[in-house]
Amino acid sequence: MTTSRGVNDETTRRRVLIVGGVAGGASCAARLRRLDETAEIVVFDRGPYVSFANCGLPYYVGDVIVDERELLVASPELFRERFAIEVHTDTEVTAIDRDARTIAVRDVRSGATRRERYDALVLAPGAAPIRPPLPGVDLPGVFAVRTIPDTRRIRAWITEHEARSAVVVGGGFIGLEMVENLVRRGLAVTVLEKLPQVMPPLDPEMAAPVMQRLEASGVRLHMGDGLAAIESAANGSLVVAAESGARLDADLVILAIGVRPEIGLARDAGLAIGLRGGIVTDAQMRTCDPHVWAVGDAAEVRDVVMGQETVLPLAGPANRQGRVAADSIAGRTPRFRGVQATAVVGVLGMTIASTGASEKGLTRAGASNFAKVYLHPGHHAGYYPGAQPIHMKLLFSVPDGRILGAEAVGTEGVEKRIDVVAMAIQLGGTVHDLAEAELCYAPQFGAAKDPVNLAGMIAQNALSGDMPLADWTRVGAGGELVVDVREPHEFAAGHVPAAINMPLSRLRERWAELPRDREIWLTCGVGQRAYYATRFLAQHGYRARNLSGGFATYRALVAAGALP
Ligand code: FAD
Repeated sequence: MTTSRGVNDETTRRRVLIVGGVAGGASCAARLRRLDETAEIVVFDRGPYVSFANCGLPYYVGDVIVDERELLVASPELFRERFAIEVHTDTEVTAIDRDARTIAVRDVRSGATRRERYDALVLAPGAAPIRPPLPGVDLPGVFAVRTIPDTRRIRAWITEHEARSAVVVGGGFIGLEMVENLVRRGLAVTVLEKLPQVMPPLDPEMAAPVMQRLEASGVRLHMGDGLAAIESAANGSLVVAAESGARLDADLVILAIGVRPEIGLARDAGLAIGLRGGIVTDAQMRTCDPHVWAVGDAAEVRDVVMGQETVLPLAGPANRQGRVAADSIAGRTPRFRGVQATAVVGVLGMTIASTGASEKGLTRAGASNFAKVYLHPGHHAGYYPGAQPIHMKLLFSVPDGRILGAEAVGTEGVEKRIDVVAMAIQLGGTVHDLAEAELCYAPQFGAAKDPVNLAGMIAQNALSGDMPLADWTRVGAGGELVVDVREPHEFAAGHVPAAINMPLSRLRERWAELPRDREIWLTCGVGQRAYYATRFLAQHGYRARNLSGGFATYRALVAAGALP
């Protein structure tokens, strides 16, 4: 077609320029082409690649992905040939003139600059690793992980310097993925983390098993201490100086202390920046300028659980936002529903996943009308060999039972449970929906009462009053009697200090020994036998409560410093 309004007519073609050609930008470009064959779509990226797998980068360092080309999901040639999308790599966008509707671009290799006209502009510049302005952060051997060249340099450094040790600054998900891959490469790894826990989005007691796994794998954890400086040592290696004065030797240092939305272009162009530091967008990913959209790590979006704006550097939301922006540019009226922070990370054989709000997030936001339950079910039926525990925490609002969030840690089947809960949250579900969820079951995959069902049922019991909950942090504060209903040999192996032992198997003979004028708080290994005892005592007129999650949760709370 070559009519005056046809697809090849340069004078009438709408120019859509996209800044950033990876998750958000590339998905926006490809989607837009599927909706609009007539638009001229041009993508700019200041790096040498587009559409590369940032999420795979740590595994390239660890030699899990051995061929760098595997990280390239699509090339400029593929964009051109398959989608008629023009891609300019090594081309930085340096300014936006919103009145003239032009951008200034600079060829990174030649330094040449030019202007490009747009009808619609999409900002997908992502987020940059935070490099604190501290002495030594730019020394050779100090790396952040964002691009393929970054990981190429890390690999080369390990080989050329025969690196044997590393300090990873920051115990978030990129930090932990780097830990795993450096361990895989045979390096002795130390984590320096300002907080007392790894995986900051998790509640501390849920991060405790992860820290135990790291230490059991030989990773040294230096917690509750910040980075002060990095120095060169006489032997050519590095010394990481911590705020406490501690000094950690390393042959290389990875900085993984978080990312910051790349908002320079947007801010300089006068686009609105939100309180969370991202580019303000509406439900169609449009900025305050009707000709400019923003997607991905740089955009501020709504957290649908917390009901507030947030920035969430994850690939799934970036891809979906790119799609929404494309729909909007194509004249449709899409609606980005917001985010709920569903995430998963694997480290040293352990899977850590979460969705929705954490307890600390809810507390920080001033919420009080919520409750939590803990459980530690096997990932499949116990009678089938190989069942592994999943440590789960479910947060829900009271009294309506709306699901607010879930966290889970284990070795098998973790992410599947969190994905189910994530979908329930998305649909506005309650704990009753989880209790009733009809999920796959065969013995090697799950249980007739799946961990997701169990979480819902336990929460249901708490809401209905069948199993009132006791607060672990109030043990010893109020005159209650803590009764551990495990067998004596289990009790002897470790128990809550305040507890007396009355095994469930003897409860029907001995219950009259329990005082009637005190609340009875029941505990066991994981909360199940304590639940049976709670029901028994409640039916005999006692004010009985369950310490959710039993001794397993108690130990995690102690390890996290939440209990003495
Ligand atoms: P990016 O994918 O970062 O793309 C932005 C691009 O814009 C970059 O290529 C940049 O060079 C370019 N750019 C910036 N400014 C300009 C400019 N002025 N001119 C031209 N180009 C510019 N998320 C998950 O959900 N799961 C994971 O397992 C996961 N693992 C990760 C591991 C690592 C090591 C990293 C770094 C990230 C990981 N992420 C993960 C996060 C995920 O990669 C990001 O959320 C996602 O890529 C964001 O997409 P984006 O399009 O906003 O930005």
